[in-house]
Amino acid sequence: MIESSEKAGQIVSEVRSEAIKLIKDGLPIIELTEFVEKSIIKKGGFPAFPCNVSINEIAAHYTSPPGDTNTIKAGDLVKLDLGAHVNGYIGDSAISVLVDGYEDKDDYPIERAEENLELIQAASDGLDAAISTVRAGISLSEIGSAVEDAITKHGFKPVANLTGHSLTQWNLHAGISVPSVKEKNGHILEEGDIIAIEPFATNGIGYVTDMPQSYIFKYLRERPLRVAHAKKVLRNIKSEFKNLPFAQRWFLDDFEVNRLHSSLRLLSQHMIIYPYNVLKEKENGIVSQKEHTVLVESDGCKILTE
Ligand code: MN
Ligand code: MN
Repeated sequence: MIESSEKAGQIVSEVRSEAIKLIKDGLPIIELTEFVEKSIIKKGGFPAFPCNVSINEIAAHYTSPPGDTNTIKAGDLVKLDLGAHVNGYIGDSAISVLVDGYEDKDDYPIERAEENLELIQAASDGLDAAISTVRAGISLSEIGSAVEDAITKHGFKPVANLTGHSLTQWNLHAGISVPSVKEKNGHILEEGDIIAIEPFATNGIGYVTDMPQSYIFKYLRERPLRVAHAKKVLRNIKSEFKNLPFAQRWFLDDFEVNRLHSSLRLLSQHMIIYPYNVLKEKENGIVSQKEHTVLVESDGCKILTE
């Protein structure tokens, strides 16, 4: 229902603005992720996925593991990516910020700050360019082309192997991938489609690669399983999150952290749940991102997470 999508978008937008104000030198990442997720619930939604806080060359899929001691530092390029759902209808949005206080750091040349700020602008221009092309009847290749042109104008590369996506009820990645680069893609958008557009810009090579860590998971399929503890964890996952991504942190009231960890590993090994690896830029380039969820209309689109 469009009302639920609109409400989810509104929640995301409000929480995003509040969360940005917290981002400063020394802030523990886990305080930011928990603030975002709790605020979404306070406003009448549920997190559609764990709040992602991905810093510098880390492009996506970092959320705090239990007991995370990592902090945000002055001069970091922080990508905050959050999602809320209302009755399974999802709003998904991301923003990038450069953390204040770098002026006082000896090892942080002003050129680096300028480049980071331009990266943030490039992702933002990529998103604007994409949004201005969207209407019923256009092909996805037109979006990819608009994004790539806007980002390369700044002298950077769009990240080719990260895409936007369609959204349907309880489904965060509902089949359509929205490109950020020029490619042949004849898929035509229809009125009423809801898509998340999320260009990433980098001063690296323009591709991301898996890191070994995974802190976000989602349920995939049923398979025979003998271990009682893992079965119990799985029942909990299916009833609470369906197919939406979740974090280990969300189970700590019900499960002891070490046993939880081994059960999640077992479920991943059996491909019952999918682990999202943390993604980093292939040549350790810095990465920026901006994202909105939009409703495709006959003559344009409506931004649901404005
Ligand atoms: Mn997102
Ligand atoms: Mn997204």
